[in-house]
Amino acid sequence: MFGFSLTKLLFTAAVIAAIWYGYKWIGRIQAMRAAGGKLDGNRPRPGPPAVEDMIRCPVCDSFVTASAAVSCGREDCPYPG
Ligand SMILES: [Zn+2]
Repeated sequence: MFGFSLTKLLFTAAVIAAIWYGYKWIGRIQAMRAAGGKLDGNRPRPGPPAVEDMIRCPVCDSFVTASAAVSCGREDCPYPG
């Protein structure tokens, strides 16, 4: 009787342990997936390049990019070109 009980107890313990470790394993995978998703969210999205600051030419009244301002063609345009 005792032997059977012990076997049953050990079997039950083994089943509980298997379920416990199974849940831990699944939880770890889900945590890794969640972390991966978070990382994906933080990663800069590929898309249009950074918006350039636009500056207005006081002479020709047209907007040019501040980093690559070029002359509109007028003589008194402050930008090179
Ligand atoms: Zn201009």
